[in-house]
Amino acid sequence: MTERFTGSFTQQEPIPEAAIAAALKVLGHGRLHRYNTAPGELSEVARLELDVAAFTGARYALAVASGGYALGCALRAAGVAPGHRVLTNAFTLAPVPGAIAALGAVPVFVEVTEALTIDLQDLARKLGQARVLMLSHMRGHICDMDRLMAMCDAADVTVIEDCAHTMGAAWKGVPSGRHGAVGCYSTQTYKHINSGEGGFLVTDDDDIAARAILLSGSYMLYERHAAAPPPDVFERIKYDIPNVSGRMDNLRAAILRPQLAALPDQVLRWNARYAAVAHGLSDTPGLAIIERPEPESFVGSSFQFLLTDWAPDAIRALLGRCAARGVDLKWFGAPEPAAFTSRYDSWHYAATAPLPATDRILAGLVDMRLPLTFSVEDCAQIARIIRAEAGALFQRG
Ligand SMILES: *Cc1c(COP(=O)(O)O)cnc(C)c1O
Repeated sequence: MTERFTGSFTQQEPIPEAAIAAALKVLGHGRLHRYNTAPGELSEVARLELDVAAFTGARYALAVASGGYALGCALRAAGVAPGHRVLTNAFTLAPVPGAIAALGAVPVFVEVTEALTIDLQDLARKLGQARVLMLSHMRGHICDMDRLMAMCDAADVTVIEDCAHTMGAAWKGVPSGRHGAVGCYSTQTYKHINSGEGGFLVTDDDDIAARAILLSGSYMLYERHAAAPPPDVFERIKYDIPNVSGRMDNLRAAILRPQLAALPDQVLRWNARYAAVAHGLSDTPGLAIIERPEPESFVGSSFQFLLTDWAPDAIRALLGRCAARGVDLKWFGAPEPAAFTSRYDSWHYAATAPLPATDRILAGLVDMRLPLTFSVEDCAQIARIIRAEAGALFQRG
């Protein structure tokens, strides 16, 4: 009898009771706008920013409307202007090149390695072309941050980290988002804490923090922020920064604060699920799982493996056979983007010369989400199904 998996790869856990209670409180008083505070009150958004600063160890934090907004705001606050070139990984999600292009800036794509991280050799070749690197820790894989930062510091390149998949992760104990000048996070439903839409940025830099807060639409009410630089920093620049509204509201902040407090425990649960898949797929002929470097502490909220040099038809056959048994795999090598786009050649607004190393990796790269609604046993079953189907196909050649 062939087993079949019946879980949903897109089903999140419910919002925790404490978050629902906090949300009801905000709904009860009606002050949803972050600057609509009672006398002496610190809004839920301002409190969340204090929590995020404490969680990451950053001096300053800003909560915004989405992860993509955080990226664009960070670029602008770091001085990126129309026509500037911005380095970024060729393997990332569409909001990353989108944030660069939305500013009228030009993405310069850097190759990725089989570890699914930015290729530091290709980066070395391209560092002279830009003043900013938007480093995307795509699918939670973190490159050698010590080497990357040494290279970028030497070349005077500002690093902005896209931590949409690394909130709660670290490199040598330093939280992801704290190596570069700015760290950006997403609280969209498919990330590590869930407010439907939302995002943060964190920084230690006075000017970047003040510019980001003014950009986000602070209506000169920046003194109602608690994780922000002192007023004199704002006074220097407040007439020069356009308002590009993208604030977070108190309802979302209320939902997020209990989730942020619970994130370290959730990370352990994710990693137990990841370990079950990794164990179940280890030494599967023809299938390579991604090695995780020792200094990286990651959040196993998704799983990737490589079918390097498999014929496209064989990969399609594997996906079909797994889907028939309830296992929903995504393939980054598909010629047409489905449901999400993470192939640089789908971004015609950011046309580039071909990137052969990245092409070879994406051609064999398969991905799946591991929502926390899966049990560890579910994950072991998913791995058994993939292993059996891959084995059947690989032996036939
Ligand atoms: C989700 C995501 C973002 C930001 O997403 P929003 O949907 O705008 O919150 C940025 N980068 C990556 C890699 C992502 O997966």
